[in-house]
Amino acid sequence: MSGRAGDEERLRRQIVDVMQQMLARGLNRGTSGNVSARCGEGVLVTPSGIVPERLTVESIVYLDAEGRGRDGGLKPSSEWRMHARILARRPDVNAIVHCHSRYATILACAGKSIPSLHYMVGVSGKPEIQLAPYATFGSAELADHVAETLAGGYACLMANHGLIAAAPSLARALFIAEEVEEQAAVYWGTLAIGGPTTLSGTQMDEIFRQFRNYGQKKEPSE
Ligand SMILES: [Zn+2]
Repeated sequence: MSGRAGDEERLRRQIVDVMQQMLARGLNRGTSGNVSARCGEGVLVTPSGIVPERLTVESIVYLDAEGRGRDGGLKPSSEWRMHARILARRPDVNAIVHCHSRYATILACAGKSIPSLHYMVGVSGKPEIQLAPYATFGSAELADHVAETLAGGYACLMANHGLIAAAPSLARALFIAEEVEEQAAVYWGTLAIGGPTTLSGTQMDEIFRQFRNYGQKKEPSE
């Protein structure tokens, strides 16, 4: 298979793989969490209510630019609006990973954002990992809140819910989600021993400069 159909097939496989990797890496349990990728004018998104072990390439749902599925397609994730809204607003983003990983969710349920306590907080694209305001899961209001909080960055926490990462590629979105979870665990740990010392704005600026020059002209760890 080649061309556009081949691209869609490849993206479907990658989405299944990312969902299964999230499970293997402890970022998700059961049917929580969802993943999407830009596909032409539309979006490919995980189906509603299917555990990662049972996902197949065929089960991934295609939605067009108006959010309409194809005949015979499964019901999309309840968070499809959130994925579609971000992709519509962000031409620099092609893939989104959302999960309820433990430490990010602990902080999100405590109403906390993650301050600039470690240079890897910078993978979010901002000096701190912000917290999007609460709205009911699956709602258009939540889609708006999250798209707004993500503006100019690549990850945020979602109040009383979990985390979301957006990136140019699925591999990068998974990497960011895993790193946000790690920074959430580190912050949680520091809160138990008196709280973190944070990096200054100047120190974070220097970190962003280093990120731009890191490795093989790519972002860290990719
Ligand atoms: Zn969720």
